[in-house]
Amino acid sequence: MKCPHCSTSISPFSPAIMGPSKPGGARECKQCNNKFSITADKKIAVIAAVATAVVGFFVLRPIPTVGPALWGFATVLVTFLAAARLKKA
Ligand SMILES: [Zn+2]
Repeated sequence: MKCPHCSTSISPFSPAIMGPSKPGGARECKQCNNKFSITADKKIAVIAAVATAVVGFFVLRPIPTVGPALWGFATVLVTFLAAARLKKA
């Protein structure tokens, strides 16, 4: 994901994305200290969720014990990574 202000690449697993947001939902770019918020592209979210859920149903869910949890986790993660967009706040 890219910062909407300075185009620095921000890891989806960095504290700026995964950490708690500031009051009002704003987050801060570590590079330029400008605020941004995370929005989701709903159309892409639906496509990604359905695609991952279907693939995961056959690939991940049959894994003993951890399969269903892994399936759910993968669906949420892929949907988030595919649909999340950073917006100036
Ligand atoms: Zn920035």
